[in-house]
Amino acid sequence: MGSQEVSSTVDWQGKHVTVAGLGVSGIPAARALHERGALVTVVNDGDDERARAQAAELEALGITVRLGDGATLPPSTELVVTAPGWQPDKPLFLAAAEAGVPVWGDVELAWRLRGTGGREAAPWLAVTGTNGKTTTVRMLASILQAAGLRTAAVGNIGVSLLDAVLGETEYDVLAVELSSYQLHWAPSLRAHSAAVLNLAPDHLDWHGSMAAYAADKGRVYEGNTVACVYNAADPATEDLVREADVEEGCRAIGFTLGAPGPSQLGVVDGILVDRAFVANRQKQAQELAEVTDVNPPAPHNIANALAAAALARAFGVEPAAVRDGLRAFRPDAHRIEHVADIDEVRYVDDSKATNTHATEASLAAYDSIVWIAGGLAKGATFDELVTGAAKRLRGVVLIGADRALIREALTRHAPEVPVVDLDRTDTGAMSEAVARAAELARPGDTVLLAPACASMDMFTNYNKRGEAFADAVRARADESA
Ligand code: ADP
Repeated sequence: MGSQEVSSTVDWQGKHVTVAGLGVSGIPAARALHERGALVTVVNDGDDERARAQAAELEALGITVRLGDGATLPPSTELVVTAPGWQPDKPLFLAAAEAGVPVWGDVELAWRLRGTGGREAAPWLAVTGTNGKTTTVRMLASILQAAGLRTAAVGNIGVSLLDAVLGETEYDVLAVELSSYQLHWAPSLRAHSAAVLNLAPDHLDWHGSMAAYAADKGRVYEGNTVACVYNAADPATEDLVREADVEEGCRAIGFTLGAPGPSQLGVVDGILVDRAFVANRQKQAQELAEVTDVNPPAPHNIANALAAAALARAFGVEPAAVRDGLRAFRPDAHRIEHVADIDEVRYVDDSKATNTHATEASLAAYDSIVWIAGGLAKGATFDELVTGAAKRLRGVVLIGADRALIREALTRHAPEVPVVDLDRTDTGAMSEAVARAAELARPGDTVLLAPACASMDMFTNYNKRGEAFADAVRARADESA
């Protein structure tokens, strides 16, 4: 499939399309296809009150909805459009494969529908990776905006992909966050340029193996035209570039926290520099921004900034716009968010660190830490994380269902570090965790909520967990003021 082909060539009139999954991607997909004349059937496993209400709305438009059976493929189906989270070994997909029916995810659909309705299709700058996607995509959008381009951060954040390609607003370029699930179901996606930030085991039950997970992430590089951006500190990402089938002239561009080699972006004496998009990369380096322009300037976040800068530079953005965009960027809540300083102790909320890879990054950002951790481990082990951070731990406060797993790792690898084990899950638990952390902390330390676990044993989600932490910290700040 050529990179410029768009679905104005697909005739949707009378085409039988099955949309798998009512939900954030399924409902807009069903509507968009119906509007284009497709005969849409939505199938959904659940049959609860919410699903029935959503089904009623779609049925009123003339869309068929089948609740309580997401497994059987409607016989006349010519195309399945699936919610990205649906596992590839579901009977519906096996039936589709047997019948020779293609399966597209929400990203594939958006990709195919872009450029319809008489508008130019905006190129995509795509970002994937285990951690840092949202941050990097938002940094990228901020840089593109600073360059005067009409753009948006799309994907899991902000504007949905379908809205971005079908809505009223016209864009020059899109900064697109893509998950491994979405990439799995997006066979013809061809980004202008793309970055894989890092690769650590995650979602392996869905993908089946690390190799399958990596292969799905690697799809983001397929057909890139200008740059495949990889993490020089994570050779697995460079391997994916090597395996990708790209357009002629497309370059592999590395980012590194050290001094950059030719065709890399990196850091020299506190300055972010570009040795890739310059006239003579053997001899020349272009200054882009200072490390202190990155918000917050933690090592992993500087890596995110370099990846965003690489994609922007691949798109032709000038160095000054990289600096201005990074300066204008404000991180999302609960991502290494500085909450308060009390008695010379800094309190930082990284509730979004829901896996060990993310927590490793935030623990690496501080010298002396009282670490608040625990929750649902999702099958993770903590030995490596604790070994790497042991020297920087002043103390640890453990919360949540799987805290014993972290405690055992601490006993094995950091037996001298004091540990407070909180055996309570009520609404006051986080306040007590903060109080106990404050007792352990000394001036100059950082109390860091970076749980390495999911939150749902104690909280609705990681936002609520972070808010509980921040509320408890602010209450202490008020008391001490
Ligand atoms: P994603 O969209 O991939 O989930 P976010 O930008 O929302 O990524 O960050 C998720 C978590 O990962 C945060 O806790 C953050 O501290 C951590 N993180 C961000 N960037 C990186 C990175 N480059 N490497 C490791 N961890 C990171």
